[in-house]
Amino acid sequence: MSYSYVSHLHCPKCQKKYSKEEKLQLCSCGAPLLVDYDLKTLSQEVERKDVIGRNPDLWRYHELLPVEDPDNVVTLGEGMTPLLSMEKAGRKMGIPKLFMKDEGVIPTGTFKARGAAVGVSKAKELGIENLVMPTNGNAGAAWSLYAARGGIKASIVMPVDAPEITRKEVAVSGANLNLVNGLISDAGKIVGRAVQKYDFFDVSTLKEPYRIEGKKTMGLEIAEQFNWKAPDVILYPAGGGVGIIGIYKAFLELQELGWIGEKLPRLVAVQAEGCAPIVQAWKENKKESEFWENSKTIAFGINVPKALGDFLVLEALYSTKGCAIAIDDASLLKEQEQLAALEGCFICPEGASTFVAARRLRESGWIKEDETVVALNTGTGLKYPNTVQVEVPTLEPEEELQWVSDGVKV
Ligand SMILES: *Cc1c(COP(=O)(O)O)cnc(C)c1O
Ligand SMILES: [Zn+2]
Repeated sequence: MSYSYVSHLHCPKCQKKYSKEEKLQLCSCGAPLLVDYDLKTLSQEVERKDVIGRNPDLWRYHELLPVEDPDNVVTLGEGMTPLLSMEKAGRKMGIPKLFMKDEGVIPTGTFKARGAAVGVSKAKELGIENLVMPTNGNAGAAWSLYAARGGIKASIVMPVDAPEITRKEVAVSGANLNLVNGLISDAGKIVGRAVQKYDFFDVSTLKEPYRIEGKKTMGLEIAEQFNWKAPDVILYPAGGGVGIIGIYKAFLELQELGWIGEKLPRLVAVQAEGCAPIVQAWKENKKESEFWENSKTIAFGINVPKALGDFLVLEALYSTKGCAIAIDDASLLKEQEQLAALEGCFICPEGASTFVAARRLRESGWIKEDETVVALNTGTGLKYPNTVQVEVPTLEPEEELQWVSDGVKV
């Protein structure tokens, strides 16, 4: 039995193969690379029940992850997040079997920790000493903290408008933080020049192949949490789309291993109305998206005008009979408040968009009443304090308690 059954990498666009020993970025054709495993041997040597007694973190699936020597694992205990029943919210929208996969409780407060844990571990295994990335905030925070734990130096470039909390997370980790007067694309240009000049490894979204493998574990966990069955629908707030590519890959690998049946979940890419290139492409039945000009949304984690892996996201939607839907900022902010009041879950705006999407897809009949539906909350609301407006009375010590709200009644 091996710790990992990784075999090689391949390009999903031109099919070129690459060795797992190389420090890989994009394929020579410009497409992101995918990691392959020797699933045949794995299925002969490992059974799904073997994972049951292991630690409740994403490394319980180490055979399906690319790190070959357990000594290289860099972990903060990420993974095996709760799959919560959202009974009250679900009843209100006519989906009694509504669940939330809650990534808000993971280290660094967003699911970027999964990609960072596996990406940094593999970078360590490949002997990488310096990594560099442009970020809108959450990814930079996760990668710099995991890099610190793994003893790797990180340089991070983020827009001045990125949330202050993520700036502080990067700074406190001791990473080399630069702000740019511009957008994430401008940060990307600075990173591109730095990579030319120094021996830095570029870990921009999908420019290194192992982040997908980390995010893939969400799909593995969902399957295990439903006792090795796929739910009917998974809704995912898509920016670069790494998570949806990963979840799709997870279910295909589990199918090939024979650990789940024939059924795949219908995958839904949820975007913001102010930045919806995938939704646009899906509506036009296209294989790739167009750059979205002047993108704008409060859900900054999904503000990605053109994703490198857009063709993989669209393929995941088409081949699972999924769909794509855009939500306006006002609706997702309202949803965020309602969910906190109704279910006690203070989730991030990106996550809230998936609940609005579930309601709308139920109203249109695309989701049926008896279906099992998973909304993916990608982060904690605590990282977005400014999305909640608070107007409450301030009392003098001798004044009486006032009634401002008595919660949300079902
Ligand atoms: C990055 C991010 C997303 C989008 O993730 P992708 O894998 O790029 O699609 C969604 N939500 C939050 C909170 C994020 O930080
Ligand atoms: Zn290629």
